[in-house]
Amino acid sequence: MSQKILSIKQIKEDASRELEAAADIDAIQALSVRYLGRKGFVTLFLRNISTLPEDQRPYAGEKANELKSFLKQKFENKIEKLQAEAADAEKYNSIDVTLPGRKGDQGTLHPITIIGNKICDIFLRIGFDIAEGPEIETDYYNFEALNIPKDHPARDMQDTFYTVNNLVLRTHTSPIQARVMEKVKPPVKIIAPGKVYRCDSDITHTPMFHQVEGLVVDKNISFADLKGVLTVFIHQIFDKDTKMRFRPSFFPFTEPSAEVDISCVICRGKGCRICSNTGWIEILGSGMVHPAVFENVGYNPEKYTGFAFGMGIERIAMLKYGVDDIRKFFENDIRFIGQF
Ligand SMILES: [Zn+2]
Repeated sequence: MSQKILSIKQIKEDASRELEAAADIDAIQALSVRYLGRKGFVTLFLRNISTLPEDQRPYAGEKANELKSFLKQKFENKIEKLQAEAADAEKYNSIDVTLPGRKGDQGTLHPITIIGNKICDIFLRIGFDIAEGPEIETDYYNFEALNIPKDHPARDMQDTFYTVNNLVLRTHTSPIQARVMEKVKPPVKIIAPGKVYRCDSDITHTPMFHQVEGLVVDKNISFADLKGVLTVFIHQIFDKDTKMRFRPSFFPFTEPSAEVDISCVICRGKGCRICSNTGWIEILGSGMVHPAVFENVGYNPEKYTGFAFGMGIERIAMLKYGVDDIRKFFENDIRFIGQF
């Protein structure tokens, strides 16, 4: 084979163009022989250097060797690229696209979240705002401001998680009442949902659970207003046939105080295990805000009256869903919590 000696520039241009056009590995290997083989253009150029004027030889040699490495690299790169494409195609062809896909598990809201949201929605629709407060609370807001004296049993070590510096994990959402009233002048109409903590654990108690607190304060607020609001709530969260009754009770922060029962949602009042055959189930505590609480937050008890109520979200969820063990809500068994 006798070939013309091409310039470095010419070799580079020709090789790049031909490489671009090369469609498979064989074509590239042929190109490699054509340019870098024993009789290739680059080899011929290198051999021919000895015929050049002496002062041009080092430069020509250097450039020719650079070109040689350059082309070698280009050929290798393109071969690798084609091999990778071939491997991908192979993989794709071996996939059976008619096989049914694996379904991912879809998450759901936790039942306590669902019921908490439902409760909040009902009160939001009748004009309540949502308030929040800290879960680590001072002794003052958790007890003192709410008219819970130093020797009240609710302060017993059995019930309250004490931390340091007179701080407790709040035992109820009621401290939010005091915090809101300190900041806002009446009228006040809030609900305060949140986590609360008590040192207690059995089939109906967990060390952490959720409450919703409600508070309405204005001029001329009466027990009838409390009954009206709770009736709307109970009819919406359960149904319109659910009966309600007040039972006299005692809370330090309300006077008078009442516990609220509803007709048993399981047996419809006939009597069953859940309602201990009474036909009634206790669902929340309520009452008219104690004048001492108003004084603590700087409200004039001669001018304003108000009512407050508080309920456990878990309790409502247990009744609505017929769950008999509160601990199930926190064991995170996906077979249980995925049902709601
Ligand atoms: Zn019953």
